[in-house]
Amino acid sequence: MPENHKVHCDCNAVEVSMSGSPKVHAFCHCEDCRELLQVPYHSVLAWEADQVSVTKGADQVIEFQHPTKRMTRVFCKHCGEVVYNTNAMGWKLISQLMYRKCNDDKLPEDLQSNAHFFYDRRIVDVDDALPKR
Ligand SMILES: [Zn+2]
Ligand SMILES: [Zn+2]
Repeated sequence: MPENHKVHCDCNAVEVSMSGSPKVHAFCHCEDCRELLQVPYHSVLAWEADQVSVTKGADQVIEFQHPTKRMTRVFCKHCGEVVYNTNAMGWKLISQLMYRKCNDDKLPEDLQSNAHFFYDRRIVDVDDALPKR
């Protein structure tokens, strides 16, 4: 049975739903995520494009194509919150932090990060037991 997950932006104009399981649930330390989102590393829930859809407020989002990277930021035009971003493979990436915020501060076990990716490109060290690649 496909699971269904939902997140929404801060002002609630936009709701995004995900079906099934994410391809990747991990922390990403690459410079692309860092520069796209201005975060030290990205807490990624990465899904195939067709697993993620805007289920409310589709006309309220702006999709911004990064000028040099094959990545986009999709954000609410009212509150500015990024509801997801896309990567060069066309996957749609939802932040684990956003998921938590929208789901009673809970992140299901099967969505929690199981690895650190591009850890050799990091700008911050993380002291945990997860594999670092
Ligand atoms: Zn909003
Ligand atoms: Zn990355």
